[in-house]
Amino acid sequence: MNAAYLSLGSNIGNRLEHLKQAVRLLHEHPAVKVKKVSSIYETEPLGLTEQAKFLNIAVELETSLGAVELLSACQSIENKLGRMRKIRWGPRTVDLDILLYNEQSIQTEDLIVPHLRMQERAFVLVPLVEINSEVKNPVTGSLYREEPAMEEEGVILWKPIQNAGEFLQQD
Ligand code: ATP
Ligand code: MG
Ligand code: MG
Repeated sequence: MNAAYLSLGSNIGNRLEHLKQAVRLLHEHPAVKVKKVSSIYETEPLGLTEQAKFLNIAVELETSLGAVELLSACQSIENKLGRMRKIRWGPRTVDLDILLYNEQSIQTEDLIVPHLRMQERAFVLVPLVEINSEVKNPVTGSLYREEPAMEEEGVILWKPIQNAGEFLQQD
């Protein structure tokens, strides 16, 4: 079995419903088990700042999928939930990024793990560290909770979540 951490975000329409559907679809995948879901955070958009705020969560998975297969599974969920892949960093119904996969460093054309920009994004780090405060960058060995970006503003606790079941029941 492999352990993976994902970051999920949505800033179009019913953001919570999009995150819930994505987590449900992950869990329904026969080779994926959702072990943990973070609280829900509301975050200011970065990059293209003239867009709606995001809801972001992190999830911990157990999976028998390889990392590239997991990326395909994430992309098919994005497509199923109607993501328009027009503008990079633009609005999206749901974005699923692989942050970590075991303690591997992966560099293929389509997949880079650890996610290239995760250590500079509070909206990724805060939910991740909530579900596992000991998690480290497998390349540098540094704890994500000690990254300076953890201190940035613009990541607000929107709804506390204790477990995956509770998350799926939110409305
Ligand atoms: P960012 O990667 O900065 O968060 P984004 O999530 O908006 O931007 P996408 O449009 O979702 O970017 O993905 C662009 C490409 O990133 C995908 O086609 C995918 O092949 C590639 N990619 C590389 N590494 C990863 C990863 N760890 N998780 C998800 N996608 C990745
Ligand atoms: Mg992303
Ligand atoms: Mg993405």
